Amino acid sequence: MTNAQYFIEATYLIASILFVLGLKSLSHPDTARRGMILAAAGMAAAVFGTLFHPDIHNYLYIAIGMIVGSLIGIPMAMVPMTAMPQRTALSHAFGALAASLVGISEYVIHGANMGGIKMGALGMEVMLGSLTVTGSFIAAAKLQEMMRGTPIMFKGQQIVNLGLFIAMIGSFIMWLIHPGGAGYFYSTVGCAFVFGILLVIPIGAADMPVVMSLLNSYAGLSSAATGFVLGNNVLIIAGTLDGFSGFILSILMCKAMNRSMTNVLFGGFGSPVSVESSVSGTMREVGLDDVAVQLAYANQVVFVPGYGMATAQAQHAVRELGNLLEERGVSVKYAIHPVAGRMPGHMNVLLAEANVPYSSLYEMEQINPELPSTDVAVVIGANDVVNPDARDNPKSLIAGMPIIEVDKAKSVVVLKRGKGKGFSGLENPLFFKPVTGMLYGDAKASLTNLTQAVQKV
Ligand code: NAP
Repeated sequence: MTNAQYFIEATYLIASILFVLGLKSLSHPDTARRGMILAAAGMAAAVFGTLFHPDIHNYLYIAIGMIVGSLIGIPMAMVPMTAMPQRTALSHAFGALAASLVGISEYVIHGANMGGIKMGALGMEVMLGSLTVTGSFIAAAKLQEMMRGTPIMFKGQQIVNLGLFIAMIGSFIMWLIHPGGAGYFYSTVGCAFVFGILLVIPIGAADMPVVMSLLNSYAGLSSAATGFVLGNNVLIIAGTLDGFSGFILSILMCKAMNRSMTNVLFGGFGSPVSVESSVSGTMREVGLDDVAVQLAYANQVVFVPGYGMATAQAQHAVRELGNLLEERGVSVKYAIHPVAGRMPGHMNVLLAEANVPYSSLYEMEQINPELPSTDVAVVIGANDVVNPDARDNPKSLIAGMPIIEVDKAKSVVVLKRGKGKGFSGLENPLFFKPVTGMLYGDAKASLTNLTQAVQKV
């Protein structure tokens, strides 16, 4: 090995260690920020080391690529928190596009002279990469509401998908048998591009985080395959970490929603449905001053944030109200459901941004036993994650999904704009219970008004 190669391998080793440490640090909110910095440093080390590759003779195209990449990447990083899922989908699409293009160019350069193992890896790379590109673009378009968010289904869809899948795998096998047959190779790529679209259109927008995490896993495995093709260790390590962590995350999200992966991918969840619900009675509206008095004289208040807190950007307003109540001697806790919002850790990130201390955040299992002794549970734009039907009605679409049992608190106040449903499209019996009062309005405005009202009590 030359000195340059030693240097490159050393930077790759450092990068790999930083990736592993970064991933480990992401497992807790306290260390997550450090994890991101470690992972970014790892990526910088890997890019820097690669610049010393002896095959690079002209840096002009690399410089242009870096400038274009930065021009796209910097504005993408500036999007608001609520747009983070679609931003992440776009990142996956670009990563997978890079892997697919590397695969295609390797085939163009080396043609049939690659050997079976390398061809197998290259085929996996372009298949997984190509379907991730189109799948991720569709996911981003659905989340950005540039296309219909509800499942797009048509007659014979499963058969078409199966046919396309067989055609893709068939072309791949034919290409392995006839490596010189470029038609087989490009047919594999073409089928994968179309398959990515068909795979994602029947999935509802709200299930997109699970799909994206799965696509992330495919993009990772595609990068690992690229690593085998190029003989690049850091790509193999980073791709494998990405591939498996994405897969585990998808499974954890499904578990938290009590749904199978098959149901998420093929169940058409989010289509308009008529389901039995155990709702009866009327919703009781409460006034600002009434709620302010309840909060001001409570011993313990539990805030339960959901997707509505994210859309209203109400995290700072809830922190201000929480601070005020704490100053008055009220014990204030924040209950975090694992799938509240629209992406894993959504609520943790928002509350951390508003400087809510981690010690005040309670996971569902920790807070549920405390709710019967809680004076007021304040639900901030959450719906499905507090729907008692998931616990009480076996016929409900979300039956079995673990919930934050706010209905067991002495009093419940729900902040939402109107009678809008949650992501599942189901009615929520919590809103009709005698213990519940509805405080209508945008969550941020309601919380700000509540803070002012509590100050006057
Ligand atoms: P949700 O069930 O989607 O309900 C959100 C509620 O917020 C709505 O009922 C809406 O009612 C209210 N809202 C919207 N904008 C508001 C505003 N500006 N101010 C006040 N209220 C507002 O949310 P969730 O309880 O957080 O549940 C999350 C759902 O997403 C779960 O079903 C979960 O399975 C699913 N999901 C989550 C993830 C994840 O990773 N977190 C991934 C996939 C799926 P109004 O319209 O009446 O205001």
